[in-house]
Amino acid sequence: MPVFMVMLGAPGAGKGTQAKQLSEKLGLPHVSSGDLFRENIKNKTDLGKLASSYIEKGDLVPDDVTISMVKDRLSRPDCAKGAILDGFPRTAAQAKALDAMLEELGYKIGLVPLIEVPESVLMARLTGRWTCRENGHVFHTLFNPPKQSGICDLDGSELYQRPDDTPETVANRIRVYQEQTAPLIEYYEVTGVLEQIDGNQEIEQVNQDLLAVVPSVD
Ligand code: ADP
Ligand code: AMP
Repeated sequence: MPVFMVMLGAPGAGKGTQAKQLSEKLGLPHVSSGDLFRENIKNKTDLGKLASSYIEKGDLVPDDVTISMVKDRLSRPDCAKGAILDGFPRTAAQAKALDAMLEELGYKIGLVPLIEVPESVLMARLTGRWTCRENGHVFHTLFNPPKQSGICDLDGSELYQRPDDTPETVANRIRVYQEQTAPLIEYYEVTGVLEQIDGNQEIEQVNQDLLAVVPSVD
């Protein structure tokens, strides 16, 4: 049975970092809505142009375009075994749309890890984040430094600071998370798929805690 997981948590909680590691260990694709938008921005598509006006302010991209972008990604053959969703859903409408998408395929969400980190930690995590241009691998100047400054350890590509990782935009993203995304915690709690994970530990320990609750992948 395919395993669909939704990584839930505030911006900077460590969703991308953990999703990348789980993706390699479990052989499941990492589906990050933020990465999909950034790819569209890089390729100067119409979707990229629309999305960038929201992303640069730290606001959410409208549900309709976000849902159709993710639906398209999940319909690709590599998601037949399941997927690790990161950054989607972020609103109640997106969560309902995801349930409908999976139901159409005869699947449902198996696990929603909620990575919990105190709000006071998030700003330092995001303003020190360096991201790799090629594959979105994530580093941190203090907490997870690359071996060579400015270069991704994993694929040798250039590291850059995301334009939406400035203090002002981060503050808005945290506000938007509290208002629009945090209500999803209850949404998934009632269906019994939510697992609370302490994200305020070493990256490797968070990964071990996650692996302990992941259902087995065929
Ligand atoms: P998210 O995808 O939830 O926004 P990221 O995975 O991109 O968060 O992590 C945000 C920043 O925090 C990155 O710079 C990353 O290297 C760092 N980070 C992730 N997990 C931890 C951790 N457990 N401890 C310290 N820093 C972390
Ligand atoms: P992330 O890479 O997850 O931090 O996302 C970066 C930005 O992309 C967010 O601040 C939003 O502007 C936009 N974004 C990513 N995922 C979504 C989503 N599911 N719904 C709306 N906007 C999103």
